[in-house]
Amino acid sequence: MSVATKALEFGEDILDRVPGLFNKFFPGRKAIVFADKITWKVAGEKVFYELAKAGVPATTYIITDDRFHPDWKYVEMLDKVVETENGILVAVGSGVINDLAKFGAFRHGDQYICVPTVASVDGYTSATAAINDERGAKVSFKCKSPSIIVADSKVLSSAPWFLSAAGYGDLASKISSGAEWMISDLFGTELIHKEAWSLTQDDLRDMLSDPDGVRNGNPKSIEQLFLGLALAGIGIEVSGGDTRCVSCAEHLYNHYLDMTHHMNNGRPVSHGFQVAIGELTLCAFFDALLSMDLTKIDVEKCVEAWPTLEEEQQRALKLFENFPVPTLGYEEITRKWQPKEAIREQLTKVKETWPEFSQKLRKQVMPYEEMKAMFARAGAPTKPEDIGLTNADIRRMTDFVQLMRWRINVLDLAKRACIFDELMDKVFGKGGVMEIK
Ligand SMILES: [Zn+2]
Repeated sequence: MSVATKALEFGEDILDRVPGLFNKFFPGRKAIVFADKITWKVAGEKVFYELAKAGVPATTYIITDDRFHPDWKYVEMLDKVVETENGILVAVGSGVINDLAKFGAFRHGDQYICVPTVASVDGYTSATAAINDERGAKVSFKCKSPSIIVADSKVLSSAPWFLSAAGYGDLASKISSGAEWMISDLFGTELIHKEAWSLTQDDLRDMLSDPDGVRNGNPKSIEQLFLGLALAGIGIEVSGGDTRCVSCAEHLYNHYLDMTHHMNNGRPVSHGFQVAIGELTLCAFFDALLSMDLTKIDVEKCVEAWPTLEEEQQRALKLFENFPVPTLGYEEITRKWQPKEAIREQLTKVKETWPEFSQKLRKQVMPYEEMKAMFARAGAPTKPEDIGLTNADIRRMTDFVQLMRWRINVLDLAKRACIFDELMDKVFGKGGVMEIK
């Protein structure tokens, strides 16, 4: 496997491994321990002490602001430090510190070491950094993953429970996104990348199997959670930067909420919590889909009813009219739409393979009630109200979700098979698990 990350160490009380790894990969270089006020206390100080004890020349750069974002001013400050010290960054912190270090190291053609302090996102190992550029716009810059990750479960498990619960929600999203990948694979639009699948799916159930441990900050459970999140990022890298292996429709609810600046009681909702609600919704969709018998679909009738590209573009323009990015749906459906011949071929495959294919999907996706119970135990949200939304909001957003990304998802299968309205009714209608009251 050719990835930028050369060492992923995890275990309890392992910060003393940093100097040895530093010397192995960066002999003769100087270390710049990069942290914020909190992460300095949590682990930065100890990392600095271990480096100094081992005789590694080291300095520090600590962001002292109480609240901070990956703003351009920090990129410039970090540039100055890296140039003056000519050192290797040792990023001790959460997503923002890691993204700034990833970007800073990449700008200087260098590598960096990551010492994560919370298991809340899967971005640590990814090859991209989310930075607010000079204009203040959030941009995902292509960089390089950290060359070394030292994940100390004692440090990670000391983070507030709701941050780990957010990580749990983000990791759980690989359940439904895997199933949606199976659909796109069947349709032939995006084939399953075996190595990325194996990295992100093989041990997923195990890694999600201890929600109580996540809620209680059990180091072993948090270690498993972090490992799952780290493998997600590596999966993206082995598939050439393609995020198909870690996200699909469930993440689009989060994209929608981000783009519309959603708040709950005046506070932003974490990525993982938004994704968790997306994931529960997807589990409900799959339950409804798997309760139907698609060997009975009338392929020719569905092909006949299939809209033209122009009709779909008009539908998207109308729906997204007051959305912050009004052309988004139009652009994505233009890329996603396929002609009648492709629809016929895909529906025939679905109809013919449904007995086996539906079983494979059932094996992949957890039932809604099961996922909900796991989230409750992990401390993740279990209903839209927990993040300031209603079932009606989720239903409304679902029309956007179907159109806002070119990737094939379960809703596209439903549209093709003429069961979209029935599916929505099963979930949001009377007696549905997300019934709109
Ligand atoms: Zn995510």
